Amino acid sequence: MTATALLGLALALPVEPPRGAKPLPPAVLEQALEKLPEAAGQGAAIRAWANGREQLWLREKRGVWSLWSRSESLELPPELGPKLENTRQYFSLTEPTLARPITFEELTAALTSRAGVRTIQALFEDMIERRVAAGGKLLFPERGGEATLDRELELHEWPEPTRDAIPRLAASIDNEDELRRLRDTEPGVATLDEHGLLKSLLSHLPAWHARGDPPERIAKVRRLTVMTLLENGAKSFVFDPASQLRAIAGQSWRGRFIGHWHVHPPHWTPVGFTGGAEPSPPDLEIAAKTGQNLTIAFTADGFDAYDLSALGEAEKADLRLARVVRYRSEEWRRRFARLHGRLPRP
Ligand SMILES: [Zn+2]
Repeated sequence: MTATALLGLALALPVEPPRGAKPLPPAVLEQALEKLPEAAGQGAAIRAWANGREQLWLREKRGVWSLWSRSESLELPPELGPKLENTRQYFSLTEPTLARPITFEELTAALTSRAGVRTIQALFEDMIERRVAAGGKLLFPERGGEATLDRELELHEWPEPTRDAIPRLAASIDNEDELRRLRDTEPGVATLDEHGLLKSLLSHLPAWHARGDPPERIAKVRRLTVMTLLENGAKSFVFDPASQLRAIAGQSWRGRFIGHWHVHPPHWTPVGFTGGAEPSPPDLEIAAKTGQNLTIAFTADGFDAYDLSALGEAEKADLRLARVVRYRSEEWRRRFARLHGRLPRP
């Protein structure tokens, strides 16, 4: 077949996408592609290929991922395909969400359904399982991410880097060299130390040792500094764009958006877990600026979930605009009392 005949064939092909291809919202390439490590430097070339083409499609066939536009296609790096597919799913939530925004009644039903309660309960149990013991205290670092509603509530978590940094910092509370290494090399630790308390302490330590300050006094200041970072870090969750992108590309998405979520953890007391902390002023600020920041607070016998979507609509950081979904059960109370009984005292 001559080149001209080939061209004629190409022109005669229908413009429908190949079988199994899915429409790719423009935001996937515009907002995410070049930030994905799996694009491995090819992001700009892929965008250049896509530039000026109207509708793009993403297809997977026998493990090979490709972009399509009319009858032309571009093969993608193998690791990039699944990440783009997840990102496609994420950006495809926008349309159904705008067409039918989630109502308070739907949110209430999702949170208090059997599946919703099980999801939230499992999250609190995991937080207790991954507790961080330090300075005679038990910490349960907050978790968060973006929530969706399909048939059921889905709490997509963000791999926020301070979550990993907290246990590592706690384990190094008495090891100055390791604290220094973590502070210099771990971005999560640098974020926890945003006010520079640890950095400043580490800069003073060599002089304190050299002039023979009592080791126990130095240790006291060091532990106090690290505990300040740990306690402040455990009770905050950073909604950072890099973690968001990793969560988008790393998970599969369906249904409609609820928005941001995070939890307010249990607190250990000798007689049982307590909780129930209301959304904090920063939580309200986030909701006023970016919309829903669903805050799920542990209580000994259930949870209080604060729907903050009205704060975004009013652009006001006002707790009085929050609507609360309260769930209580005897089964929950017994379950967490048992869990408390199994934990060693801090
Ligand atoms: Zn909060």
